[in-house]
Amino acid sequence: MLRRKKTWNRKKNIIRNVGLCKYCNQMIVSDESFVMFMGGIPAHYACMKKDDEERQLEIEPKKET
Ligand SMILES: [Zn+2]
Repeated sequence: MLRRKKTWNRKKNIIRNVGLCKYCNQMIVSDESFVMFMGGIPAHYACMKKDDEERQLEIEPKKET
């Protein structure tokens, strides 16, 4: 029985530039976690989450005044 050797190894992570982040305006690479908005506008996941939290804070009514 012959054992096949894997002579070629695929690169699992091919890093590519995705585009500029909608929020921080820095280049996103496909290695990072990011989201894609409508119209093909990319953003860092962290930036989106941060923005989302800030908006929620704005919307959230003050409970105690
Ligand atoms: Zn960003």
